Amino acid sequence: MAVVVGTRPEIIKMAPVIGEVDALLGRGSALVIDTGQHFDESMSGQFWRELGLPAPEVKLDAGGMTRAGCLGYLTAELGRVFASFAPSVVLVQGDTNTTAAGALAANAEGIPLVHVEAGLRSYDRAMPEEHNRVITDHLADLCCAATPHNHTNLALEGIPNSRVLLTGNTIVEAVQSQLPSTDDQLAYLGSYGMRPDAYVLATIHRPENTDEPRTLRGIIEALVGLADRMPVLFPMHPRTRQAAKEAKCEDLLSRMSVVDPVGSRAFLSLAAHAAVLISDSGGVAEEVTVLKRPLVVVRCSTERAESMEAGFSHLVAPHQIASTVAGILSGHQELLARLAKTPCPYGNGTAAAQIARATSQLIELRKD
Ligand code: UDP
Repeated sequence: MAVVVGTRPEIIKMAPVIGEVDALLGRGSALVIDTGQHFDESMSGQFWRELGLPAPEVKLDAGGMTRAGCLGYLTAELGRVFASFAPSVVLVQGDTNTTAAGALAANAEGIPLVHVEAGLRSYDRAMPEEHNRVITDHLADLCCAATPHNHTNLALEGIPNSRVLLTGNTIVEAVQSQLPSTDDQLAYLGSYGMRPDAYVLATIHRPENTDEPRTLRGIIEALVGLADRMPVLFPMHPRTRQAAKEAKCEDLLSRMSVVDPVGSRAFLSLAAHAAVLISDSGGVAEEVTVLKRPLVVVRCSTERAESMEAGFSHLVAPHQIASTVAGILSGHQELLARLAKTPCPYGNGTAAAQIARATSQLIELRKD
């Protein structure tokens, strides 16, 4: 079998699946392919090491391309890799260009496809990720849906139940396995000069927030406004750093703690103790439901309604950040107590094991 990953969230969410495949079928049973879509050390290299993953057997070079360029290059390259290694099945995760190209290449080579984290829909056709999800779900032989809502989305598009498995999201076990001990969590906070419950943790990287200088400036101004009340720690995605430079926001950034993207353990520790998180990340919207922390989601739409419905996250426009954070902080202790008791809507930490089992069954079926 082959596992195709290329970006930070795919590495984080597929690490538990690779671990379960190793446990079930023997170490090294999966051919791990890194498309290089994220190539920066802070966005890729540090995660391979930290998550204890074997070095990828195949490494492609899809970094810094246009979407069409990336899809074309990866579909052709992955097609060549699949033709030469002939994997029994291909696993892809999420909604990136890597995901869609992996799906197209597997389909072109006639290899069964498993889509991990299937059935997410924002119904926002302006998002490239939405198209990547739809393409991949419809090509997949097995759609691993994280929630009943995701399963319903697939059914509404005519994907039969026989091609869907409700597994939960592997982010749950990723958090469970990567979250350090309490002492180590607090040591991470200390190393960034933060105290529990007394800082804001922010990540912003989506094109809808970074591509338009006025939008990005509005978000950064809102964060700076919060920094008057408590420290704002902002591990900054390389794309956002470049966009902030182009939007001439450097002076504003100097009023927050802006750092390079941090490793998984550091990020989860910081997230576990933040008074509030502000983010446009899909993975973070899931992680807060495990860590039981409040999140302000700065986006036009979301495909993670479960995190909102359970009361963990709040979808807002940039101009609503300040008032939403003020509302969260005004009843903070009561809110934290309520979230602590709210079940995680993304499963119970067995998704990766279920996906590994179902994949090996798919391989067996193909042998018959
Ligand atoms: N993350 C991290 N370090 C950081 C910021 C985020 O390890 O400095 C992790 C976070 O824990 C989550 C993942 O990155 O698991 C989310 O990735 P990203 O926001 O790039 O993608 P998305 O989830 O929006 O697809």
